[in-house]
Amino acid sequence: GATIAVFTRDLRVRDNPVLAAACRGADRVVPLFVRDPRVLSSEFSLGRKDFLEECLSNVDSSLRARGGRLVLRDGDPVEQIARVADEVDARRVHLAGDVSAYARRRADALTDALGRRELVIHDDVHAVVPPGRVLPAGRDHFAVFGPYFRRWQEAPTRREVPAPRRIAVPESVRSARCAARTGGETAARRRLSAWVNGGLGDYAEHHDLLAVDGTSRLSPYLHLGCVSPLELARRAGPGAFTRQLAWRDFHLQVLAARPDTTHRDYRPRGDRWREDPQALRAWQDGLTGIPIVDAGLRQLRTEGWMHNRARLITASFLTKTLYLDWRAGAAHFFRWLLDGDLANNCLNWQWVAGTGTDTRPNRVLNPLRQAARYDPDGEYVRRHVPELSHLPASTIHTPWRHRGRVDYPPPVVDLAEGRARFLAARR
Ligand code: FAD
Repeated sequence: GATIAVFTRDLRVRDNPVLAAACRGADRVVPLFVRDPRVLSSEFSLGRKDFLEECLSNVDSSLRARGGRLVLRDGDPVEQIARVADEVDARRVHLAGDVSAYARRRADALTDALGRRELVIHDDVHAVVPPGRVLPAGRDHFAVFGPYFRRWQEAPTRREVPAPRRIAVPESVRSARCAARTGGETAARRRLSAWVNGGLGDYAEHHDLLAVDGTSRLSPYLHLGCVSPLELARRAGPGAFTRQLAWRDFHLQVLAARPDTTHRDYRPRGDRWREDPQALRAWQDGLTGIPIVDAGLRQLRTEGWMHNRARLITASFLTKTLYLDWRAGAAHFFRWLLDGDLANNCLNWQWVAGTGTDTRPNRVLNPLRQAARYDPDGEYVRRHVPELSHLPASTIHTPWRHRGRVDYPPPVVDLAEGRARFLAARR
């Protein structure tokens, strides 16, 4: 019988413990990916779906270069994996462990469906330091980043595993087709190398500047596992950048301990969020009348990515200044972000909304002050809000003060009033 290596969001051949273990234990391996219509539902933007296809196509090429190929199926993953296991009479199935409620139910159902065939779950795939590896005394996760990060830096990590040299796939297994482009391990590795040899050195200084390309932009690749976070942390070495990778692990261990935080408040503050479909719509469309907010939201739609500083500004604006439910914002981000990730998206949203792990839950970012600090020349706004591109730095962030003609909506909310409304609600 053959062994099955199930790919999920570990779309790489290098340092992939699932693939390595499957190849170690068997002559014949079926590298399998199941497109799950429940995950890839119509909520996903076209860009997100394309990016996944590109990643799959690249895994397929890498496997072909090693004599194998990627077997693709569409449908319910449990049914499809069990079916392939029957077809090739697999003795064993390898899978990366994941922490969302959905992933856990899927693993349990798979154990049942496979019956006498063994399911091997690898818990050490998605993080540098996997959930549960470091714990505070008597608790199942860290609730504050500082103490977590101190332990994270000291934590033991596994050895990296090389890509398998040759893979033999049983000829009889059929497969759906996949398309090609910029996602995938090859593109991810190119970016990783360019980053480690280039931008990384200036990261501490540049990462918050909106108009500068000062961050790695590796997030979509990290989300789908096209690069190993462990390899990335080792190659980058300690410093401000690697600290951000610890934030990623931090959120994952919170989600592992509290899977309901994808939709429920981690620390409820008694909020009664407003209903305001018009304001929500303006926010989604990047037409709030606050240029720095609109620039971020438009970058999201055009690039499938948003600068972290802009994510903070736009999320604070929605949850605090407009006082709308973080879940509406998270859903919009999730639809458009190529890096849209349950743990990072929901828990960062909760962090900003003050229902999460932020130890100062009631701070409200002032978008104009943020703009002056992180986009002082207005370059970022000019790039993403073309109707303001003719304004000088002195008024580009406050077009309502500009004397000439400006074809741009007035602010949907008075910033000071919004802030006061939020603070009153939280009191
Ligand atoms: P870099 O600055 O180069 O950082 C390197 C890597 O560190 C990132 O790729 C990411 O994996 C990790 N990282 C950096 N910042 C954070 C953070 N605050 N939390 C967790 N991990 C981090 N990130 C996602 O990957 N997916 C999401 O769905 C997501 N949603 C977010 C929603 C909001 C409201 C906010 C405020 C942040 C969100 N982030 C999310 C975190 C962060 O904005 C992105 O990871 C980052 O902008 C990605 O760009 P980069 O790869 O150039 O980051």
